[in-house]
Amino acid sequence: MDIKYFDHSATTPVDKRVLNEMMPYFSENYGNPSSLYSLGKANKEIINIYRMKIANILGAKVNEIYFTSCGSESDNMIIKGIAFANSHLGNHIITTQIEHPAVLDTCKFLEKFGFRITYLKPKENGIIDVNELEKSITRNTILISVMFANNEIGTIQPIKEIGEIARKYKIYFHTDAVQAIGNIDINVKEYNIDALSMSAHKFYGPKGMGVAYINENVSFIRMQDGGHQERNKRAGTENVAGIVGTGKALEIAKHELIQNNNHIKKLRDFYVSEIMRKIKYVKLNGDMEKRLPGNANISFSGIEGSLLLSKLDEKGICASSGSACSAGLLNPSHVLLSIGVPKNLAKSSLRITFGRENTLEDTKYLIDSIEEIVKELRN
Ligand SMILES: *Cc1c(COP(=O)(O)O)cnc(C)c1O
Repeated sequence: MDIKYFDHSATTPVDKRVLNEMMPYFSENYGNPSSLYSLGKANKEIINIYRMKIANILGAKVNEIYFTSCGSESDNMIIKGIAFANSHLGNHIITTQIEHPAVLDTCKFLEKFGFRITYLKPKENGIIDVNELEKSITRNTILISVMFANNEIGTIQPIKEIGEIARKYKIYFHTDAVQAIGNIDINVKEYNIDALSMSAHKFYGPKGMGVAYINENVSFIRMQDGGHQERNKRAGTENVAGIVGTGKALEIAKHELIQNNNHIKKLRDFYVSEIMRKIKYVKLNGDMEKRLPGNANISFSGIEGSLLLSKLDEKGICASSGSACSAGLLNPSHVLLSIGVPKNLAKSSLRITFGRENTLEDTKYLIDSIEEIVKELRN
């Protein structure tokens, strides 16, 4: 069966141009970048070229870019690394209730080591209240970590305002930008961002590659001990092919950003308006304006989300009930509960996330399939 893929917030296919650029680094140019002969040294050069490309796109310095194994690792490395290096200055961290588990569970881990965490509750539209954030700052606050865009409901946080507050109080500011990269042009200096996480497989790059941007003035300790790679801040032989793929994927994302956003927004808006028009008792979760262009999260009253997903799967449609990480579990999404969606509606939600390769024809097939399945399940 022909697969119709509408789960781009879970992962994306590797762009063919990215794959082609990566290929020589698997079995031809395989030298260890730390070696002293040319086969290895050439790869050290390659890594620095791609590090520079990524730094330029983010508006960062080349020595502020660290390669990791995933978005989750970047979140862990940044939050734990900053917390443990700055615990003499304070033990308070501010984050939100709607972060990805990579941030939430990292904060829970830190609580066991004496850190105190404020988990801000967003407004009903899924956006954080910056006044409330400012009020929660204490003399002990060392870090603010607020995601750029949410992975379940796609809402975009007021990152510029938060960056200004963080600067005013001289508190480090980290943002998990895993969902935002590829959809939003981010310049870390312009936004006053001190640390940022991203993940290549969310923007048509390879799985198993993350990037951490950490401003050179931020003090942090390394979480992964061993060799001296990544300027002694993250041990482990570099994933040369992955680094090449990450840089190439980011370049493409940057060059084609407007074109891709227009395309996926058109499909998303068509999908939302058709679902609203054709199906009764549905609710769109999260702000419709301050939202990623490809995200639609809709609750279908009376429908069990997991059942809807398996019926869609029978039709070759890939979608999600919320975050991919909690899919399979029957728990309602922590994000939807946090923005005040009742438990039964939270369990009946469907997250559709559009991508570059989706077409209007695919979207019509999606809409027709949902209409048919919802009718069947409600009877
Ligand atoms: C996917 C995702 C992550 C985790 O990235 P991985 O590379 O899969 O570990 C972290 N934060 C957000 C917002 C995400 O969407």
